[in-house]
Amino acid sequence: MTYAITQTCCNDATCVAVCPVNCIHPTPEERAFGSTEMLHIDPRACIDCGACADACPVDAIFPVDSLSAGQREYADINAAYYEGAEPLAAEVDGPNFHAWGEPVFERNLPSDFGPLRVAVVGTGPAGMYAAQDLLLHTAAEVTLIDRLPVAGGLVRYGVAPDHPATKKVGDTFSRFHSHPRVRMHLGIEVGRDVTPEELSAHHDAVVYAVGASTDRRLGVPGEDKPGCLSATAFVAWYNAHPEAVAQGVDLSAERVVVVGNGNVALDVARILVADPEALAATDIAAHALDALRASRVREVVVLGRRGPEDAAYTRSELLALKHLEGVELVVDDHDPRTAAVIDAAGAGDRAGALKGLARVRTDAASPTGGERRIVLRFHSQVREILGDGDGVNSVRVTDGGGDGDGGGTADLGAGLLLRAIGYRGLPVPGLPFDEASGTVPHEGGRVAGVPGSYVVGWIKRGPSGGIGANRTCAAETVGTLLADAVAGELPAPTGDAKAFRRLARQRNRRVVDARGLAAIDRAERDRGRRDGRPRVKLATVEELVATARSGRLLRLTR
Ligand code: NAP
Repeated sequence: MTYAITQTCCNDATCVAVCPVNCIHPTPEERAFGSTEMLHIDPRACIDCGACADACPVDAIFPVDSLSAGQREYADINAAYYEGAEPLAAEVDGPNFHAWGEPVFERNLPSDFGPLRVAVVGTGPAGMYAAQDLLLHTAAEVTLIDRLPVAGGLVRYGVAPDHPATKKVGDTFSRFHSHPRVRMHLGIEVGRDVTPEELSAHHDAVVYAVGASTDRRLGVPGEDKPGCLSATAFVAWYNAHPEAVAQGVDLSAERVVVVGNGNVALDVARILVADPEALAATDIAAHALDALRASRVREVVVLGRRGPEDAAYTRSELLALKHLEGVELVVDDHDPRTAAVIDAAGAGDRAGALKGLARVRTDAASPTGGERRIVLRFHSQVREILGDGDGVNSVRVTDGGGDGDGGGTADLGAGLLLRAIGYRGLPVPGLPFDEASGTVPHEGGRVAGVPGSYVVGWIKRGPSGGIGANRTCAAETVGTLLADAVAGELPAPTGDAKAFRRLARQRNRRVVDARGLAAIDRAERDRGRRDGRPRVKLATVEELVATARSGRLLRLTR
């Protein structure tokens, strides 16, 4: 029996480091790392020790014998990666694997290297991988800052609620929230409460891990109608983000159109048609669960502007849709190119994953009866969003072959359009900004022209790559920062940690620290236990801050 890596693989390569026989690939040292959707265990070399399964932060690794029906194909997916490769061959990069390369020493610092004081702005995956690297490999003191009064970033507010295994990576990060060399200031916004200059003046270096907090726009008529939302806003709404709670989402129409072919598009499509009673066992926002229970949505049409061979979603997320209870997954055959590509595709190809799915012609007027379903409609772009002032009633899309302008159009009746066409970074106060890419210009993470400032995650490399991609990204940024420190190139701070704490509290009296965060966590888990859920999230800034305060007071009086 061997182990296999399955759907939730986060690609952060924690498993690679613990494998005693080097049978998990690609490793971060191999050229293919970052270009594959997941890592793979070679069944011929695996010795069944289970070390990888213990180390995996997202519970993605299982013995092949214990794979569920929905996971079983991952045994073949793991094995297929090694087809034709020689185990234990000498090359590291080619189709051969398992060679032991030169040993890698993650951090090699001079013996007299003193402790740095580093601020990390943003407590999502990128910020936490950077903090973790600094805390595990150096004696640095880390100040964690977030504009929200709770930590987690996209782990808390981006990962879909029905992906609990992925959320487990948050447990790995939260171990560092109470680390003795961490100071936490949640609810502090750089640019509003403290200036970037003040932050730098109190630290040797500042690492900005602020992500990509807005979304791209389609640029078509009707995009500003109520009923046309970004998937970012919808995801924030079902994940109880304090800034998204009040807006509400109208789920009274039977069809929703989702634009985009990435994993976010599949996430929102899945949540819209999933059984609400299955979602009731997750940490989905209470208001979203109520709305989904009352929802009339029966069909989600997912529009890809290109063909199935170019879809941006990962194969694992598509395979998961095939196994969604009570939901049919079908392909729209309005354009003959779609069927031709699927039919010609090999089983391991991106388009090959669609083999065997029913092909339908989407009824323009309304969904046909039967099961709830997701329709994948490739080669189709939005031309206009139609409806009166109160909302959307249909979406005009390219139809029936042709590359858009040359082809025809169809009006798909729909009451809601979600654009899932990618996130976009916003300028960071005090840092240069590249408008075209929505990122901060940098060299290996060092911000150009601002000594002592660094970037990591989506604000550094743009909004692509899952959670685990941030681990190697953070390693690069921290490596650059440490090299600059060794070279004496960091500006000397003028204030200490205590002075910064005083400043933060003067500027915002509602700041939440590690004990407040622990109180929020306890309160949410307690509420969840009562309802048989992992947690019920507090959904407003007021509730979060009040719970942080009352939890702290309670502990002090015990
Ligand atoms: P993404 O993967 O970049 O996908 C964006 C999609 O939008 C692409 O299909 C793109 O098509 C399309 N698009 C862009 N502009 C468009 C336009 N004007 N009209 C129509 N379509 C347009 O972005 P994402 O889905 O936001 O995901 C961001 C990252 O987070 C990805 O790396 C993703 O894998 C990751 N993520 C992972 C998970 C998971 O593992 N479960 C969940 C959520 C997000 P083209 O390809 O033609 O440009």
